[in-house]
Amino acid sequence: MLEKLYIVIPCYNEEEMLPITAKALLEKMQTLIDEQKIHPDSKVMFVDDGSKDKTWEIITKLHSIPYFTGVKLSRNKGHQNALLAGMYTAVEYADIIVSMDADLQDDINAIDGFLEKRAEGCEIVYGVRSSRKKDTKFKRGTAQGYYKLLSKMGVEITYNHADYRLMSKRAVEALQQFKEVNLFLRGLVPMVGFKTAIVEYERNERQAGESKYPLKKMIGFAIEGITSLSVKPIRFITFLGFFIFFISIIMLIKVLVTWAIGNAVAGWSTIVISIWAIGGLQLLSIGIIGEYIGKIYLETKARPKFIIEKNLEQGE
Ligand code: UDP
Ligand code: MG
Repeated sequence: MLEKLYIVIPCYNEEEMLPITAKALLEKMQTLIDEQKIHPDSKVMFVDDGSKDKTWEIITKLHSIPYFTGVKLSRNKGHQNALLAGMYTAVEYADIIVSMDADLQDDINAIDGFLEKRAEGCEIVYGVRSSRKKDTKFKRGTAQGYYKLLSKMGVEITYNHADYRLMSKRAVEALQQFKEVNLFLRGLVPMVGFKTAIVEYERNERQAGESKYPLKKMIGFAIEGITSLSVKPIRFITFLGFFIFFISIIMLIKVLVTWAIGNAVAGWSTIVISIWAIGGLQLLSIGIIGEYIGKIYLETKARPKFIIEKNLEQGE
């Protein structure tokens, strides 16, 4: 049986881009349906993320074409939340959901690849940029450094994958069990598990309008990624505390040696050792308290402890 596909697209002030995107997607949908790759009732769902321009007007107009539908958020909540809102709305009607940006930077023809992998039984298919040639040098450099930093922090993340991916109804329903408020989908989706695959594509330039991710938002997003998924920064404080305390012990030995040799400066040793020892102990204590805060932090997320893939009782 053919699966019903919903393409979810968060849009923030995209009046310039939407008509172009809609045209390209309409053609794509029609070909996919003609080629019998998706169910004829498949749709493109635009999510208006509290835009201040004519975005919603355009979406309502597009709705006269059966392939288009939309939801409007009450206010601007940011790309990640808009995406999630769209996915959670679409999951009621769809069998599979593809998420992508409104600016056609992600090659829509990669969807064929996604569907092939889906036919092979994958629940999640990640779109991965084969090269970043068309991104600015700055964006490329910072992004790559950031992926490395994230993996050092113990966050499992697919390299060069933005939020262009296919998820089955099942995978989205599993994602719904993650109750966290701080959202970094790229890091969260891999936690869902299941059979996954990667499809490579060439990333294009934005065709109209400007990037809605200025440096300030990018930095915010980057910090969100680390702090919402990792407690390693806290552990770093603990290590630093240990390290400095260790130095104070070395200092103590040094002082004892100088004293034994007999050329100690009066008063110097007490001050220096106290500084290092107290500094180290303080950092260590903050680190330990931090460890507990880290635990509380992870508990409050109330993440599901497991997600069942197969249940023989239910004859799957
Ligand atoms: N976007 C959104 N809400 C925001 C910012 C951006 O829904 O607050 C959408 C935007 O309309 C686009 C996608 O998120 O569809 C990615 O934004 P953009 O292309 O500007 O980011 P970049 O590709 O420059 O990182
Ligand atoms: Mg873009």
